[in-house]
Amino acid sequence: MALRQIRLDSDPILRKVSREVTEINDRILELLDDMVETMDDAEGVGLAAPQVGILRRVIVIDAGDGPIKMINPVITDEAGSEIDVEGCLSVPNRSGTVKRPRELKVTYLDENGIKQTLDLEGFKARIVCHEVDHLDGILYTDKMIEEIDMNELMQGEE
Ligand code: ZN
Repeated sequence: MALRQIRLDSDPILRKVSREVTEINDRILELLDDMVETMDDAEGVGLAAPQVGILRRVIVIDAGDGPIKMINPVITDEAGSEIDVEGCLSVPNRSGTVKRPRELKVTYLDENGIKQTLDLEGFKARIVCHEVDHLDGILYTDKMIEEIDMNELMQGEE
């Protein structure tokens, strides 16, 4: 496993649409492992392949209960909506509010090529939406309702 460099928001690769994975080979498996390591190292809760410069439909998420690797994730159902704060490893030192579905269903292939379906809500649903957007060249700042000043937030907590 190895750390990969996280691309920042000025990098045009983040604006490209990623291609579906057609064969789960060693390169894809290594990519998934590296993405989990890179996400953990950066203390992130999710990472999409274009953020490490690979235009493939691959994401990893970890809401604190262990990593989930998703190949070709597709959100098939959404319900409700919720506005909450998001940040992004590719957009450092910024955060803001985004409206996302409260619940969703996502289907994907696991590392063994088996189709999986998960019903997610709240924070986990938000992470999946954010990461799937990356696969379509969309950043959360495109959908941001209001920018949140992190310095003010931290001062408020003292
Ligand atoms: Zn992001």
